[in-house]
Amino acid sequence: MEFKSFLIKYAEIGTKGKNRYVFEDILCKNIRSAMKRIDGRFLVRKEYGRIFVDCTEEYDFDEAVNALQHVFGIVGICPVLVVPNMPWDALANEIIRFMDESYERKDVTFKVNCRRINKEYPMHSMDVNIEAGAVLLDAFPELKVDVHKPEVMINIELRDQIYIYSVRLPGPGGLPVGTNGKGMLLLSGGIDSPVAGYLVSKRGVNLEAVYFDAPPHTSPQAKQKVVDLARLVSKYAGAVTLHIIHFTDIQEAIYHKCPEDEITIIMRRYMMRIAQILAEKNDCQALITGESIGQVASQTIFSLQVTNAVCTDPVFRPCIGMDKQEIVDIAEKIHTYETSILPYEDCCTTFVARHPVTKPKLKDIEASEALLAEDIDDLMKQALATEEIITVW
Ligand code: ATP
Ligand code: MG
Repeated sequence: MEFKSFLIKYAEIGTKGKNRYVFEDILCKNIRSAMKRIDGRFLVRKEYGRIFVDCTEEYDFDEAVNALQHVFGIVGICPVLVVPNMPWDALANEIIRFMDESYERKDVTFKVNCRRINKEYPMHSMDVNIEAGAVLLDAFPELKVDVHKPEVMINIELRDQIYIYSVRLPGPGGLPVGTNGKGMLLLSGGIDSPVAGYLVSKRGVNLEAVYFDAPPHTSPQAKQKVVDLARLVSKYAGAVTLHIIHFTDIQEAIYHKCPEDEITIIMRRYMMRIAQILAEKNDCQALITGESIGQVASQTIFSLQVTNAVCTDPVFRPCIGMDKQEIVDIAEKIHTYETSILPYEDCCTTFVARHPVTKPKLKDIEASEALLAEDIDDLMKQALATEEIITVW
C-alpha cells in the first residue's frame, strides 16, 4: 500500500494540561524542520489531539520514517490511509483494499477498532467494528478474529475524513526539543559527550556546545571531528551552536605552574568555568558533560566534587551511571560512534599526568590554582576572545 500520510502518536505531551498546545505546536515545528532535510513536500497539521504528516509529492517512505524517528516527542509513527468521508458500502471496499495491500499473508488474527469522532457518521463505532470484521472475513477467509491479542489491529477513525491504519513504527520518545530551555554541552571528540548531549536533548532541551581546542597540540582534524559530531547530534537536537575556544595558553600555564598530578583536574575546572560563563551569556540553564563515575581519574566521585565546585548552574551528566559499553551502544544507535573513534588527539591526551590524583581535595586544588593568580584572569579573557562560533543543523 502506498501511504500518503502518517499519523503521529505522542505520549507525554498529553499529560501537560494547558501547556499541551505549546508542546504540540513545538512538536509540529520540529517535524517540519526534520522533513525539510529530505526530498518531498510535507504538510504537518494538527487536528483534535492528533498530528498528521501529509506527503503531497512523491517521497521515499523509509527516508520519511527515518526523519520522523529523529524527532523527540514522537512515540509512534502510523502510516495511514486517508479517504474522504463516505457511506458505509464505499468505506467497506476501502477497508478491504487496505487489508489486501498492507498484508501479503492473510492467515493472521485481527481485530477492528473504530473511533467515531464525527458524530454525524450514520453508524456507531461498535457497528463499524462488527460490519468491518464481517466484510473482511468474507473477503479473506483465512483471517481469524482475535479480540484479545490480535496480530493485526485495523484502526478506523471517523473524522472529517476517514483514517485507516494498523502498523505503528516506534518513534524516539522523549519531549519536543525547545520545550525545556537550553543546556551548554561540553563537547569533546570522545564517545561520551555526544551521547550526553543526545540524552539531555531527548528531554526537550535545546543545545549549545563548547569545544576547547588546543592548537598546535591538536590538529584541525580534531576540531573538524567535533564539528561533525555536533552535526550528528543536531539530527536529533535541532540546530546546535558550537563555541570553539582556544584553550592552549591556559593549558600551558597549568602545565608549567601546577603540580603535575593535578593538571587534569585543574584543567577540567577551567573548562567548566569557561563553559559556565558561556552558558550565562547564551541563556542556558545548565551545563552538560559526558562524565561517568570512575571512568578515569578526573571522574572519580572526589574529582567530580572538585570539578563541580566551580559551577553555579546544575551540571547534567546523563552518562554518570553507565558502563562504557552502555554508552557505546547509544553512540552506535545515534551514529556518532564511528566519528568519535577517529584517532585524532584531543587536548587532554596532550597534557596528561603520569599519576593523576584520584582523591583531590578542594583546598589543595585551590592552593595550586593560586599559583596561576598572576595571569589567569588575562588568560581567561584572551581565551574567551578567541571564541569561534559555528552553527550546525
Ligand atoms: P568523552 O567523554 O566525550 O568520550 P573523554 O572520555 O576524553 O571524552 P574526558 O576527557 O574524561 O572525556 O572529559 C570528560 C568530559 O569533559 C567530556 O565528556 C566532555 O563533556 C568534557 N570535555 C573533555 N574535554 C573536552 C574538550 N576538549 N572540549 C569540551 N569538552 C570537553
Ligand atoms: Mg569520557
